[in-house]
Amino acid sequence: LRKQMVAGNWKMNGSVELVNQIANAISAVELDKVDVVVFPPYPLLNNALQNELVVGAQSVSEHEAGAYTGEIDAQLLAELGCKYTLVGHSERRSIYGESDEVVASKFQRAQCQGLIPVLCVGESEQEREQNLTESVVSRQIDAVINKLGVVSLVKSVIAYEPVWAIGTGKTATPEQAQQVHKFIRDKIASLDDAVSQSLILLYGGSVNEKNSELLFAQPDIDGGLVGGASLNPDSFVNICKSAQ
Ligand code: 13P
Repeated sequence: LRKQMVAGNWKMNGSVELVNQIANAISAVELDKVDVVVFPPYPLLNNALQNELVVGAQSVSEHEAGAYTGEIDAQLLAELGCKYTLVGHSERRSIYGESDEVVASKFQRAQCQGLIPVLCVGESEQEREQNLTESVVSRQIDAVINKLGVVSLVKSVIAYEPVWAIGTGKTATPEQAQQVHKFIRDKIASLDDAVSQSLILLYGGSVNEKNSELLFAQPDIDGGLVGGASLNPDSFVNICKSAQ
């Protein structure tokens, strides 16, 4: 049985004050029933850790430490106490031009240092209209499988985040989301059933405290990657509770 997970991606938002508020609010969540993780901006990681939150970075360099001004090495994140890192968030792909190959390298570098990569995948609105959802999601996952093998997914999480649902208030319906999650799980099962059955698959894209319960109740949805609503302590806690 897979344990549910709720992750808050703060993106380029938040403050020391918000870390404190979220840490206080989360004490109301039964953490034996759901894994709660926050992904604040890098300068707040240490504050979050000191508040006993489980934390991840929003991105990581694909390189080992060296002359890469402005980048962050996985080894440092691991040393600090991070458990996870996002890789391939759609904003990284679209705004910063991260290719599937770069994302796969980041995934590898994260795992090499013992971080659990949360691989973000998802189609744009245009791709969905053109019936390309499955091929886009497949391509994004295959970049990792082809480079590192299906077994590399054992210590990872996949987040399905349709780009058209991110920050738009246009959530995928539970049925739409479940359909893609099932596609992903079946695809991986065709390579390795045990890996597929244990893999945590999160849904992301306009998750809020009103829609989370039905989304998380779908058989192949194991929780959520929450953007905007994770910045509101009450909403975030309610979303976490709906995963229990
Ligand atoms: P929103 O929940 O704000 O739509 O953001 C989703 C997201 O991108 C999480 O990574």
